[in-house]
Amino acid sequence: MCGMCCQKPESVGHLLWECPHTEGDFFMLLQRMVSKLEEHDVEKWAVIAWAIWNARNKYYFERIQLHPRDILRGATGFLQEYQRFMQAQQQDREAEGQHGSL
Ligand SMILES: [Zn+2]
Repeated sequence: MCGMCCQKPESVGHLLWECPHTEGDFFMLLQRMVSKLEEHDVEKWAVIAWAIWNARNKYYFERIQLHPRDILRGATGFLQEYQRFMQAQQQDREAEGQHGSL
């Protein structure tokens, strides 16, 4: 149950988009972040925020508390994996483009 409104089950979607106590806050924050930060910094922020949320859930539901260093390490590893994947995708697209023009 949502700890803010006590009306609906707590979920990321509810807290970010539906809960009357937080409605719009996340969207406004995200808009400001995107307008002020470089793309890679927005990605870093999003992954760290996601990792903190997951760590919070791990504590809330399993009573397992992660050290902040481990939360950051996990987020950084995930982000590096994501960036390598995106870079490989970009290189594949470029290679296909070069091959197609020959
Ligand atoms: Zn709520």
